[in-house]
Amino acid sequence: MTKPILLSTPHMGSRELQFVTEAFETNWIAPIGPHVDAFEREFCQKVGSSHATAVTSGTAALHLALKLVGVGAGDDVFCSSLTFSASANPIVYEGAKPVFIDSDRQSWNMDAKLLETALEQRARLCKLPKAVILVHIYGQCADIDPILAACEHYGVPIIEDAAEALGATYKGRSPGTFGKVGIFSFNGNKIITTSGGGMLVSEDASITSKAKFLATQARDPAPHYQHSEIGYNYRMSNVLAGIGRGQLLVLNDRVAARRRNCEVYQQALAHLPGIEFMPEASWGTATRWLTCLTIAPTAFGVDREHVRLALAEAQIEARPVWKPLHMQPIFQNYDRVGGEVAEDLFDRGLCLPSGSNLSDEDLHRVIDAIVKCARS
Ligand SMILES: *Cc1c(COP(=O)(O)O)cnc(C)c1O
Repeated sequence: MTKPILLSTPHMGSRELQFVTEAFETNWIAPIGPHVDAFEREFCQKVGSSHATAVTSGTAALHLALKLVGVGAGDDVFCSSLTFSASANPIVYEGAKPVFIDSDRQSWNMDAKLLETALEQRARLCKLPKAVILVHIYGQCADIDPILAACEHYGVPIIEDAAEALGATYKGRSPGTFGKVGIFSFNGNKIITTSGGGMLVSEDASITSKAKFLATQARDPAPHYQHSEIGYNYRMSNVLAGIGRGQLLVLNDRVAARRRNCEVYQQALAHLPGIEFMPEASWGTATRWLTCLTIAPTAFGVDREHVRLALAEAQIEARPVWKPLHMQPIFQNYDRVGGEVAEDLFDRGLCLPSGSNLSDEDLHRVIDAIVKCARS
């Protein structure tokens, strides 16, 4: 039987099990503990942020981030449209309303000019959003500087969703460290994983300490259990933080391996008519968390779905680019700004198997299956 090739699978290094064993030997099998503290410290060093709070998921981190910048019922929150639903779900948890912003073609991320115009219009109506969730999709940074400048001009805080972009750079710095709050994910399919987990970072210590407070059931300092706010059970387990510490040690290798996958795919496929790879924007280095390309059906001979199904037939998992959130049944009644670029990328875009543990043989199986689809 043919071995399936999956989109992105966990890839452990050599130290994770040692850290987990240490947690067992010291009986630190708890949410919080020394591995959690160390993971937060080491994560800060890696991305160049001052403070961090480790939590159960990227979604939990985003939920806390929204609360910490003061988003509440009835508020509007601007959010990238071309992203995973978890980027916007926490807006709705809080009873706030997402407004979806289209992508630009050079980064596939939030279009800075569209955002600027939308903020200007909202300012005139005295209806500014309470926050902007800026997503760095597929391991590539959005054009952060003009977005930051526009948001600062109108006093709107940015939450960076860097769930897919750990290890990327924007003008030499890590995404997640530019906005008021940044979040990362360690879900099983991400660039490094703790099986499930997330991180919230900020330059403002009051943000991360309030995040710790809310994530541990909002317990007031008192010997009895006293609560004056609604809390959450969102803290990361000490066992899983051990996995995270091991994974951080190999992050650079994982980024290099994913970038290499993309280079191999590009060398073999970029010359085919109708194929275009997701561009790497000039302002930074993308991790190529997933290698994405678009297929122009007339030039290539068949459309994206045809290629995806041919790959599935060969036991190869490939997926369409994110369906824009403004097209999702659950979000389609919310406002949006533009949307045509994201719709086109969804229509023609395909994500190829991209794990850091793929072999050359795996990559060539994918390449051969795509080449076979091309107009001959
Ligand atoms: C994975 C992901 C999340 C959610 O992270 P989890 O850890 O799975 O909760 C949020 N935003 C984006 C863009 C993601 O890819």
